[in-house]
Amino acid sequence: MIGLIDCNNFYASCERVFNPKLEGKPIGILSNNDGCVIARSNELKPLVPMGMPAFQIPTHIRKQITLLSSNYELYGDMSQRVFDTVRNYTADIEPYSIDEAFIQLNGFNDITTHCQKLRAIVKRDTGIPVSIGIASTRTLAKLANHIAKKQTIHQGVYCLPTNEKGQRKILQAFTIDEIWGVGRRIAEKLQTLLGIYTAWDLRQANLKQIRQQFSVVLERTVLELRGIACIELDDLSTPKKNIMTSRSFGCLTGELFDLQEAIRIHASRGAEKLRNQKSVANAVLVFLKTNRFRKDLIQYHPSIVVPLTFATDDSRLIIQAAQKGLQTIYKKGCLFMKAGVMLLDLKAKNSNSQYDLFTSKSSQKNDKLMQTIDSINQKMGKNTIQLGGIRQQAPWQIKRERLSQRYTTRWDELPLVK
Ligand SMILES: [Mg+2]
Repeated sequence: MIGLIDCNNFYASCERVFNPKLEGKPIGILSNNDGCVIARSNELKPLVPMGMPAFQIPTHIRKQITLLSSNYELYGDMSQRVFDTVRNYTADIEPYSIDEAFIQLNGFNDITTHCQKLRAIVKRDTGIPVSIGIASTRTLAKLANHIAKKQTIHQGVYCLPTNEKGQRKILQAFTIDEIWGVGRRIAEKLQTLLGIYTAWDLRQANLKQIRQQFSVVLERTVLELRGIACIELDDLSTPKKNIMTSRSFGCLTGELFDLQEAIRIHASRGAEKLRNQKSVANAVLVFLKTNRFRKDLIQYHPSIVVPLTFATDDSRLIIQAAQKGLQTIYKKGCLFMKAGVMLLDLKAKNSNSQYDLFTSKSSQKNDKLMQTIDSINQKMGKNTIQLGGIRQQAPWQIKRERLSQRYTTRWDELPLVK
């Protein structure tokens, strides 16, 4: 079984740990330069919409709420503490955003009780309240987490029933746009083309039809709704809130140079995805992971959040921030298995961006440069233009020793007849 552990109103909760007076009060966290609201406590939700510029909040509302600048260093460190705590009580943990992680929950007689304990321990040791959704696949665990968070009778932990009858009622209550990875555009198309409205409808959909009219990715979502795990974290498509790019190395490495190269690739791939979905990010999270199966080696799973001076989609600024983060968490003598980059607190590009007000000329120029790089890479193939050059045979690159010849696309790899 898989669990999705999600911190409740994470940024607001971090602030409350050190300022308990804020408990039960409406609080909002502002983007860099105190531009607009990027996180809200439950109490603030009915008062202020997400993304609202601070100066537009009416005075009578401002008087009853607390607005805080984003303290990414604090949030990054609290995130690390939560995940370190969880790591002690689970076989494996895969962070998926600054406040969410998937955990392996195999081998427990009573998973719900175990997770209730875990939840209490996290609260005791870090001060952060979390919710845990449990199911057989990541997509279902995400839905279970919704229930854990919204329905208070479950006390923060909800395990989805495994039988079809039990699941039916629950999946019928979710609209398709609430399903992980199903964006608004896909949801609309599903409704108009196939009359699919709820998670249960999608679960029942014809696989072939979904593959042909939509994509292999959506077909996998259908399978996941049926309880067949087939979505890997690394190949997630268009998430709305954060973008993650990571990959395991072909072999363990402790060289800073290798890590820098890997981080540069992940950061620029993330930035490309960001531009593709027309968003900008407010901060960059960098993480490293050692191999948890190698008990003979030093275990070290650091992460850090580096705020961007302004919300941006510029590869160069994102790479720069990521490298700065890497420099801080890198420790000599550890052998790493995985490195990754997450782009945090995304918002639609050009929505009240202060940056545009002040530096519109250079920003237009930068946009053009990025668009040119993207279009060349789309036309001429991935990585035709790269920032900072990447070795073809870097030791950390995915192992490809068992790769067969590329018979049909390379002249020098054509099959030999004789
Ligand atoms: Mg959360």
